[in-house]
Amino acid sequence: MPIISRIKDFSDDLVKIRRDFHEHPELGMQEVRTSKIVNELLEKWGLETFTGIGKTGVVGVLKGNKPGKTIGLRADMDALPIQEKTNLAFASKNPGVMHACGHDSHTTMLLGAARYLSENKDFSGTAIFIFQPAEEGLGGAKAMLADKLFERFPCDEIYGLHNWPTGELGKVTIKPGVAMAGADFFDIHIKAFGSHAARPHASKDPIITASSLIAQLQTIVSRNVPPTETIVLSITQIHAGTAYNVIPSDCVLSGTMRYFDNELAKLVRKRIKTIVDGVAKAFDVEIEIDNREIFDVLVNNEKLSHEMLKVASEVVGKENASIREELVTGSEDFADMLNVIPGAYCNIGHGGTLPLHNDGFILDENILPIGASIYAKLVETRG
Ligand code: ZN
Repeated sequence: MPIISRIKDFSDDLVKIRRDFHEHPELGMQEVRTSKIVNELLEKWGLETFTGIGKTGVVGVLKGNKPGKTIGLRADMDALPIQEKTNLAFASKNPGVMHACGHDSHTTMLLGAARYLSENKDFSGTAIFIFQPAEEGLGGAKAMLADKLFERFPCDEIYGLHNWPTGELGKVTIKPGVAMAGADFFDIHIKAFGSHAARPHASKDPIITASSLIAQLQTIVSRNVPPTETIVLSITQIHAGTAYNVIPSDCVLSGTMRYFDNELAKLVRKRIKTIVDGVAKAFDVEIEIDNREIFDVLVNNEKLSHEMLKVASEVVGKENASIREELVTGSEDFADMLNVIPGAYCNIGHGGTLPLHNDGFILDENILPIGASIYAKLVETRG
């Protein structure tokens, strides 16, 4: 695998950096230690750096020796609220917080590319290294955009990537066009009337209301969404009750919608509201919906998807780089950046076999020089 040889030379350093991040994971918007280390390393390698963009975000700027385009490269830095169960020597020291999505590796790969390019400035154009906070549903990309990321650092193209624990190291896939789902998170608060459980007629029971509501919400995908389209609507939390003999006053349902088509998403939001209002009337209770549009649909630029794949294939070999047809119902807030600047986002396979977000997730560190090489070659090729 033609990993850039200089990156291969310092790949032990990348492993050290990644293990340190892994041992000290930080939740979204709290990446204080991580962004401090990122900033220090970028400064050490002679990059111009900017901190506090989107609270804990960091941007590094590196000019090549020749004029050319400005290429943005983005990595995410945040961890998840999960108690790690890997038994690794460098397992998380922060109770209840874990790098279970491998963002520690993304940050490290981008640092690797910055180090290499700082030593090899014979490229055209400018590289913008974007270290983003809070990818896991906390709006880190939007926060950086609100801090005028692309007004301050205008990019011609942007690229991002994600590790993918397929068990196969270095398999790169990319889905041109619509690739990953948009996502809403919602809470539905049923405000009813509690009573003694032996006197149910004196109550307005929020649990019965919730059961009926959940069943009816499930008709939206089966009866309002065309069967050829993809929508996920899942209730993932029910909170109510404190005792065997009490009918509670309240019940809160929470969940998520995943979609690939903005018009269909609007239809689903409208149907949720109609059904909620109908059930509220039927059970004579009050129901409030708090819906948040968290992730946009991720759309890869068609042309740049193929360009990114070409660059990746120089690192992993043509036989390991392919176009993917399937949509991913997961979400990724790099979508917000791709809404502003054309670019692409690929997945890189590695030897890990447990799913992302699993408390036993183990990253195959051999992916580090591969990702760093792809990032670096994007600048050398596209700049
Ligand atoms: Zn992730």
